[in-house]
Amino acid sequence: MAGNLISETVGAWRSVLSFLADRRRSRAATREFWAMGRDECTGILNDIGLSRSEFDDAMRLPYASEDLLSSAMRSVGIDPDSFQSLQAAHCFMSRTCITCLHRRQCHGHLAAFDFESHYQDFCPNSVNFADLLVDGRSQSMAGKAC
Ligand code: SF4
Repeated sequence: MAGNLISETVGAWRSVLSFLADRRRSRAATREFWAMGRDECTGILNDIGLSRSEFDDAMRLPYASEDLLSSAMRSVGIDPDSFQSLQAAHCFMSRTCITCLHRRQCHGHLAAFDFESHYQDFCPNSVNFADLLVDGRSQSMAGKAC
């Protein structure tokens, strides 16, 4: 009984520390981003299709400083390096990832190395991954500009 209570308390404390560390990384990443200069940053945000306020909101999401898209792609069998050349698809999928409300769940499955067995239940990019796996481009993004 007491052992359960202690282990729950330790688990909760670890969660708090992990949350705080994540917030610190996100704040540092945001500072580094804006240190590149307003014009450069505005250009990058325009390229991805994010407004300043959308970017600010996204940087408050869990694991905001981590590139979950590349890890997710590798997990489902897509080479993120060869995908970079598909500019419109890359921007659209990056935007979806940056603003994704399932980042905590996504990170958990990536850390457990079982993302590929679960992502179709929650990942907003799952259709795009399926398209890329079938023919190297996403039909669901056809006609969408970055
Ligand atoms: S669940 Fe999908 S869209 Fe969301 S962060 Fe993970 S890979 Fe990106």
